Amino acid sequence: MKKVLLYSGGMDSWLIDKIWKPDIKLYINIKGEYSKEELKRLPKDVIIEELDLGRFEREDKIIPMRNLFFVTLASLYGDEICLGATAGDRVLDKSIDFGEKASDLLTYLWQKQHWTEERKIKINLDFKHYSKVELLKMYKNQGGDLKKAFNETFSCYYPRHNGNECWTCKPCFRKAVAFTIVGFDIGKEKAKRVIRYIDSEILPAIKNGTYGRGKEEQDILEAYKVLKEKYE
Ligand SMILES: [Zn+2]
Repeated sequence: MKKVLLYSGGMDSWLIDKIWKPDIKLYINIKGEYSKEELKRLPKDVIIEELDLGRFEREDKIIPMRNLFFVTLASLYGDEICLGATAGDRVLDKSIDFGEKASDLLTYLWQKQHWTEERKIKINLDFKHYSKVELLKMYKNQGGDLKKAFNETFSCYYPRHNGNECWTCKPCFRKAVAFTIVGFDIGKEKAKRVIRYIDSEILPAIKNGTYGRGKEEQDILEAYKVLKEKYE
């Protein structure tokens, strides 16, 4: 039974790697808008596959069916496949239902037949029960180094010309919130950008009741308060 983690280099998969300890980390280069930035930062022990799905990337960054392609490719590497999804992920191809159906389908296709021995494939979505903040706390509690986690994770949608994170996009903001909640100081320059992003993109939705993320909203408001008090 080999454990395969679908690895992106973003905060979720970076933390899951440290907590779940897979045998194989698999990065699938879809040649999308920010694949280049992700590739630059991958650890040496990550296996890289290519699958040209970037052509289907929509403006909102969604690639339809992405994770169905991913788990199918990952089943060629191992039997237990972790998608690296956390509680904040709402797309259907990271849902618990998807995990069960994809496990069934792949196990069906990998049954004993003239070209293969039987293999049972399991899609692991255990980390769906945890938010980014909870994942980061787990890592911290097992002795993890927050500074290392902060510096080695990258999931910005719009990296700046020098390759740095923008701190004004959704993944940057979510990373900043999680680290602030666990007590890590992200520094003044980043804090100012994150505050501006929350002011313009997030607070209005929370106030209107259209943000729709329950507990995560409390974390956002708490982090926002901490950053405001410290840096404004
Ligand atoms: Zn960004």
